[in-house]
Amino acid sequence: MRSTMMDFPLQIARILEHGSTVHGRAEVVTWTGDQSRRMSYTEVGAQAARLAHALRDDLGVTGDDRVATFMWNNAEHLVAYFAVPSMGAVLHTLNIRLFPDQVAYVANHAEDKVVLVDSTLLPLLANVLPQMSTVRHVVVVGGADPQPLVAAAPNVAVHAWDDLLRDKPERYDWPEVDERDAAALCYTSGTTGHPKGVAYSHRSIWLHSMQICAAEAFGLGPTSRVLTIVPMFHAMAWGLPYAAFMSGASLIMPDRFLQAQPIAAMIAAERPTLGGAVPTIWTDLLSYLDKNEVDTSSLKEVIVGGSACPPALMHAFSERHGIEIIHAWGMTEMSPLGSVSRPPAGVTGDEAWAYRYTQGRIPAPVAARIVAPDGSVAPADGRTVGELEVRGPWVTARYLGEDEPDPEKFHDGWLRTGDVGTLSPDGYLTLTDRAKDVIKSGGEWISSVELENALMAHPAVLEACVVGVPDERWGERPLAAVVLREGSSAKPEELRDFLAGKLARWQLPERWVFIDAVPKTSVGKFDKKAVRARHAAGALDVTTVNYP
Ligand code: ADP
Repeated sequence: MRSTMMDFPLQIARILEHGSTVHGRAEVVTWTGDQSRRMSYTEVGAQAARLAHALRDDLGVTGDDRVATFMWNNAEHLVAYFAVPSMGAVLHTLNIRLFPDQVAYVANHAEDKVVLVDSTLLPLLANVLPQMSTVRHVVVVGGADPQPLVAAAPNVAVHAWDDLLRDKPERYDWPEVDERDAAALCYTSGTTGHPKGVAYSHRSIWLHSMQICAAEAFGLGPTSRVLTIVPMFHAMAWGLPYAAFMSGASLIMPDRFLQAQPIAAMIAAERPTLGGAVPTIWTDLLSYLDKNEVDTSSLKEVIVGGSACPPALMHAFSERHGIEIIHAWGMTEMSPLGSVSRPPAGVTGDEAWAYRYTQGRIPAPVAARIVAPDGSVAPADGRTVGELEVRGPWVTARYLGEDEPDPEKFHDGWLRTGDVGTLSPDGYLTLTDRAKDVIKSGGEWISSVELENALMAHPAVLEACVVGVPDERWGERPLAAVVLREGSSAKPEELRDFLAGKLARWQLPERWVFIDAVPKTSVGKFDKKAVRARHAAGALDVTTVNYP
């Protein structure tokens, strides 16, 4: 029997209309250095309509034209998040931290027609604009002199956001779109070769946003104030902007102020209830909070994802500052939400902590399985290790521009995540490593993440990055690159003894190097490729300690 339900398209415009009326008093707050500027969701709705008029009438955006952003997290970026997909065009969030060649590559691959740029990023864009072959218009948000852009690319028309939007109507007759059409576009950073594009649909963003709002995930509602530190160009800021508009949660945006001190000031002034960022941001903030008196009493939970969250960080936030870290796992290819770690009801104490360390529970719409190296599906017994594969309505089926799913990344309609771990019978995912970071030592696997987490529990260690390096006898052995806390000291022997009780002897590193900072990727993760490359180039002063 066919259902009797209406075929009602899930469109971004619907989220915009709902948020800007029903939740019109909610606000997006943008940090300006020592204070904030505020825009209500009603105003975001009006600005989105104005921007859509400007894009269509003045810049000639039609159909599925791509409109890119080269922006920090701020109110105008949020306006673009809604205006562009609502008018039927496709939003492409460019990663401002990629190398210029990569930015140009993705803009050309996506065939971006327009770029919206923050005035503080104008010099960076001027650098790559000449290589962006499809861009016809740039819109500058904020009052910078556009001359560098004009000089760099004389064939590109440069406009000022305020001038374009000034006289435009505050309403727009949003067209009906097919919910399966692309709404937004993000590129993965791609480990080898070029970045790859993922095109989210109106439908996938809707369903994903509803899951983000769910209590088992981030539990957003009208009393939530979400400090969105994760960049809006990193997997759509984990879906927080759309979910906030849907649920009436307010957004607090850091703009370009991403250091611990301004983030602490933002927390004290704007009283977020929830935050979202990669572990390195929270590691820096923790050091700051440990040394400075800051009122963080509003902040109950912070979401940590993008890389494995060290348990020591979770305990420190909880025990010293009353802030609970919620560990989450995801990928650009998954919109990005994969799993969120909240312990089952009734579980307390150490058992609850053990659940919180995991990457979390997979939600109902996502199917997940572990595939053993021989290709067979492994049992979800919490023990059998293999590669995680997923399917679901917000999981990509292929990369943009590829007619067929790439067999390296897709398998029988499943996305191969490249992550290695286990699934428990109650649906919790534990990742031991990324397949390419696992250290293969004499036929056994050593988890680089496990070593890092154990090292980062040592009081003298701020950050530790472990990579596999070639070894004549074992094939590969771990190299521990350690950043010590300011004013702390530790010798390799001491760190090794500290690890000895926690890991098997054969897993302990012999090679150690102390570095000033772990190199980070464009989205703030440990850049293990860079550490391996430095080692290969002989640029690391490695101490080898042989143990009896
Ligand atoms: P990039 O490839 O640039 O890092 P993504 O942010 O899409 O881009 O990365 C997704 C990957 O990040 C996942 O496949 C996984 O390896 C890693 N990851 C994300 N969250 C976690 C987590 N909580 N624990 C461990 N790894 C994580």
